Amino acid sequence: MKITVIQTGSTLVSGAVPDRSSHKWKYAYTGLFQKRKNRISVPVKAFLVEVGGHRILVDTGWSAACVTHPVRHMGFNLWFASEPVVTGDETVPSQLAAMGLKPEDLDAVILTHLDCDHASGLDGVAEAGHIFCSKEEWAHAQTRDVRYRPSFWKGVSIETLNMSDDPEAPFGKSCDLFSDGSIMVVLTPGHSEGSVAVLAGDESGYAAFIGDDSYNRHSWEEQKLPGPVFDVDAMRTTLRWVRELSHDPRCIGIYAAHDPEQIMPGR
Ligand SMILES: [Zn+2]
Repeated sequence: MKITVIQTGSTLVSGAVPDRSSHKWKYAYTGLFQKRKNRISVPVKAFLVEVGGHRILVDTGWSAACVTHPVRHMGFNLWFASEPVVTGDETVPSQLAAMGLKPEDLDAVILTHLDCDHASGLDGVAEAGHIFCSKEEWAHAQTRDVRYRPSFWKGVSIETLNMSDDPEAPFGKSCDLFSDGSIMVVLTPGHSEGSVAVLAGDESGYAAFIGDDSYNRHSWEEQKLPGPVFDVDAMRTTLRWVRELSHDPRCIGIYAAHDPEQIMPGR
């Protein structure tokens, strides 16, 4: 298995985004009524995973539109809460090209969820073989929840994942993407209604790509709730599951979308 971290710049956010206990107000993660100079910078990562003859991308990071016209691309509210900092060389298509790859060389793109820092870059990878997100996430994105920006996926063919019953999954649902066990997509709601994690590997070990199921080692070890949470109880269950993964000797790495460190618990 080969894993390439594709960091598409960063996002300037309130300190309450990774840790809601850092601020009193429930909506502090929006950055409202806080000094912008107090924001923290966290990386925005996508992951290229090559395993079992498949090449997949987990999340899409920031679009090139965030370089040229971020406010128009994201809308003011999302731009305000999650200010992107990215250069043209840092987008997924640019970094793929530097590796000699084109978006159509991707067998699949899996979106852990549809927040702006994960789905903004869809316009650059629309030619991938398949683009997947969970049914639950897709259904919620069809509501008028201001959290989502439908223009990101306008004209992009998104397929919803067919989850099966899985007694080992934290919410009883997972999807064996290529029916060979190499890529398991696990339903992990909490941060959003239909968030998923991706487990990639073989019998010898697997890497976990957890999106925003947890922001960093502190959040899973200390079970810290992030700021943006759709369902607190589900978030706690998901955080406990991530902590279990971190103690599993077969887990060779936990890759969170915004973790400044790279944690390799199995090494
Ligand atoms: Zn995120």
